[in-house]
Amino acid sequence: MFSFFNPVDLRFGENAISGVDFALFGKRALIVMGKGGSAKKNSAINDLVNSLNSKGISYNLFSEIEENPSFDLIDKGAEIFKSNGCDFVIGVGGGSPMDAAKAISAAAKMNKKVVELYEIKDQISTYPIIEITTTSGTGSEVTQYAVLTSYDGRKLGLRTKKLFPTLAIVDPKYTLTMPADVTITTGLDALSQLVESILSKINTPITDAMAVKGLELIKQSLHQVVREPSNISHRSNVALAATLSGITISQTGTTIVHALGYPLTSHIGIRHGLANMMTICQIVKNAAKFEPQRVKIATEVFGGTQGLCDFIDAIYPRPKLKLSEKDAEEFAREIDLKSGQVLNTPGVYDFDFVKEIYKSL
Ligand code: NAP
Repeated sequence: MFSFFNPVDLRFGENAISGVDFALFGKRALIVMGKGGSAKKNSAINDLVNSLNSKGISYNLFSEIEENPSFDLIDKGAEIFKSNGCDFVIGVGGGSPMDAAKAISAAAKMNKKVVELYEIKDQISTYPIIEITTTSGTGSEVTQYAVLTSYDGRKLGLRTKKLFPTLAIVDPKYTLTMPADVTITTGLDALSQLVESILSKINTPITDAMAVKGLELIKQSLHQVVREPSNISHRSNVALAATLSGITISQTGTTIVHALGYPLTSHIGIRHGLANMMTICQIVKNAAKFEPQRVKIATEVFGGTQGLCDFIDAIYPRPKLKLSEKDAEEFAREIDLKSGQVLNTPGVYDFDFVKEIYKSL
């Protein structure tokens, strides 16, 4: 027996925003976007504002979202939402603004600080959440997760089906402005999620089929899109792979690969998608000892595990981190060995194993 639940109304393709009637969601939107202004450069904001204006919907802009958004930013966004009388939220950008939009919507609706939401999870309710993605990586537009940075600097995932967006807009043209580093980081995040969803002990035939399709698209187009950044067909392929990766992890969750990556991002600033790449080959090789069939499915497109690792190395030659004993221990202590991410990974993972992985980087 398996189940599949993903209630997001997905609009994918060129000018996908044009068919959306924003009046269905409310009268005043809070638009949540990154502080770098990329949503202006890639025209997503322009398209959105035109759509809102055409329906007479007013809005406020909250354009302060940093990468790996902090609890403080969410609390600030929720105050802006409430004080302006907003009644729905629109996240525009990569995973950071999209996750922030989810959490702001919930914190505002519940009239709570974001930290309190982690206590009540499934009792959360939200205002309608619309997501417009401008990167091709996290798939956050179709997931029920918000990954946030706690007051003490740790990355913490908030997971509840109440956070599924109401509507997701994926228009690959918004990704044309991504510089090579963002294209690579985010594309590798999608690759990681697709592989992890196949490895996960709670994979299903549906998630496997989607993940294999996503991996084919990554194999076909990720290297090419770095070489030809304005090629819209390659951009579309990677965008579809990323959305598929979001749908698959909405069912299977991620694995220890993601868990190991969080301290690398929060302590030494390695971007999310690249942090996953630091350990994925080791975890896939270890998983093969326990679930060789799963690993075969996850790597077949690349000709096996070595092919997958070569594909990654060719686009992201991993730096040698040379972590000290103390750092390796500290990072390992942050891994919750009882979390779904760890328990759903084929293999046995204890503190020493995790510490050794960090020491080997
Ligand atoms: P991001 O942190 O949202 O953005 C990274 C950088 O890319 C920012 O400087 C951003 O600029 C820029 N950018 C975004 N779109 C662009 C475009 N079209 N052209 C040029 N630059 C652009 O990146 P991300 O990798 O998409 O998201 C990572 C976050 O998502 C992490 O916090 C991660 O933990 C989380 N995540 C969430 C899920 C989930 O299911 N919820 C899954 C995986 C990861 P601006 O400052 O202008 O925005």
